[in-house]
Amino acid sequence: MNNIITAKFGGTSLADASQIKKVAAIITANPERKYVVASAPGKRFSDDIKITDMLYKCHAQFTNNENYSETLGKIRERYAGIISELGIEFDIDAEISELEKNLAHKDYTASRGEYINSKIIAKFLNWPFFDAADGIFFTSSGVLDEAKTFSTLGEKLKALSCAVIPGFYGALPDGSIKTFSRGGSDVTGSIVARSVNADLYENWTDVSGMLSADPRIVKNPRVIDFITYTELRELSYMGASVLHEDAVFPVRKAGIPINIRNTNRPDDNGTMITASLPKNLSRKAVTGIAGRKGFSSIRVEKSMMNGETGFGAKLLYIFSDNGLPFEHCPTGIDTISVVVNSDLFDEKRDKILREIKNELDPDFVMIEKNLSAIAVVGEGMVSVKGIAAKIFSALANAGINIRMIDQGSDELNIIIGVDEKDYELAINSLYKAMIEA
Ligand code: ASP
Repeated sequence: MNNIITAKFGGTSLADASQIKKVAAIITANPERKYVVASAPGKRFSDDIKITDMLYKCHAQFTNNENYSETLGKIRERYAGIISELGIEFDIDAEISELEKNLAHKDYTASRGEYINSKIIAKFLNWPFFDAADGIFFTSSGVLDEAKTFSTLGEKLKALSCAVIPGFYGALPDGSIKTFSRGGSDVTGSIVARSVNADLYENWTDVSGMLSADPRIVKNPRVIDFITYTELRELSYMGASVLHEDAVFPVRKAGIPINIRNTNRPDDNGTMITASLPKNLSRKAVTGIAGRKGFSSIRVEKSMMNGETGFGAKLLYIFSDNGLPFEHCPTGIDTISVVVNSDLFDEKRDKILREIKNELDPDFVMIEKNLSAIAVVGEGMVSVKGIAAKIFSALANAGINIRMIDQGSDELNIIIGVDEKDYELAINSLYKAMIEA
């Protein structure tokens, strides 16, 4: 144990002075929370505008020769309000005029949301501020330079007993600022945790952890208390979102657990994300259910297909040559289906169908649209018998027709394809049978 926690706070956790005060109380409640990664101020209410969005707007107005002063003024006001409510001395005008000089640079402009916010938080806590540009490095092609970052950042941060570090950006070899993709402060938090060899990466947000189903579909779904990195990846891929996709990799390699926590309910345990589940943990075989709409299935039939070497490979090449990734590929004896994103497929549809006919000479090709895919995910599914039977009877009892079944080869998930119109009912029926019951 190093007795080090890296705590990252998201935009809603830092949206105004009262949220920042909650964050300060969380930080000081545990002296192991030594390295704090901060986002830019996010939304205070649903129609509010994030500082990062205002910064992008300001840059766009500047480059289009439009008047940007109102947008810049609003950014200034937002910070000025926070500063006065926190009761700290902070020269916001110096920061805003520095920003104004550099509005031509998109990533620099966007990064000032976290930069200024982190300086304010550091001042309020009376902690050192550490600029991410001095420790997070990208190669000239814009990829994170892991080796250089982990060693330099680790060394520089450990020389400080604690620090506030802005999320979302780092520096290119020429020193200019480069941001991660949106939501990238999660990635910074993970990089910091890895670099200082933290025991834990806490990710503080506005929900009490990862939910076992989409709350827009299922009423009050349960919070997942423990989940493995692999389960998380499967559920996130199918649309459940709690963390930036790239945030798992740095800590996963070092086996550092991630704890998703709620700034507004700090006593909740949240969700713990680990490489393997704690021993003696008793829980359901199914951890979570997630899904997406908008798929099409292209079913190709040809008698004696099984005897024809390379049929499947040729079919998949046609899709990949057209730049279309496939999601699933269930096969029968004389049939093979390729499930793809409908929007991408529609753009290339005629060309792909022509190539299938010319190159594979099939007996029959059928396109099924309006398909949704639902993943039922859980490490426990491998060892428990009768899971598939339960899934299928839950759907049959609800009168839902299953249009595709695909079990992942790791037996960690079963993907079910149903008509888009049955999607919500299917998720609810599966949740009731597999998680709530
Ligand atoms: N502020 C950035 C965004 O809105 C990064 C982040 O909050 O993680 O995307």
